[in-house]
Amino acid sequence: MVNTGTISPDQILNTLRTVMDPEIPVLSVVDMGVIRHIEVTDHLIVTITPTYSGCPAMNTIEEDIKKCLLEEGYEGVQVKTVLQPAWTTDWLTEHGREQLKAYGIAPPQGSTSKRALFLEDETVPCPQCNSKNTILVSEFGSTACKAQYKCKDCLEPFDYFKCI
Ligand SMILES: [Zn+2]
Repeated sequence: MVNTGTISPDQILNTLRTVMDPEIPVLSVVDMGVIRHIEVTDHLIVTITPTYSGCPAMNTIEEDIKKCLLEEGYEGVQVKTVLQPAWTTDWLTEHGREQLKAYGIAPPQGSTSKRALFLEDETVPCPQCNSKNTILVSEFGSTACKAQYKCKDCLEPFDYFKCI
């Protein structure tokens, strides 16, 4: 058993940066904003909030978190799921947004509150060439969390990670 007295939540958070989202393998659960709280008492409690509700990936994430921490020598880890407040794309970190773009998925534009005000203005820049000359092809891309767009300049189709 690890002496939890010497562990800081930041240390755990850094370890969790190696746990990737099952759907987007370049994005860690930390960058995803899924990790809400880390409590170090006589054991470790990691609180997570699922992303898109009903995402089957969540069970995998819970298992992956436990497995990762166990491999690092942390035993008796508890993963708690909290549904409120609901996850929003605002919780994605800056780094996470860059990772998404590098992976070819347009990150969510702006914050959800801004989006409500400027819904019609929403343009999704192409992650390949940054052109704003893009069109929505389908509300649903490879998964329900993404919409499919096409760039009219470089003609590449791409996924847009929807704002919620
Ligand atoms: Zn393009």
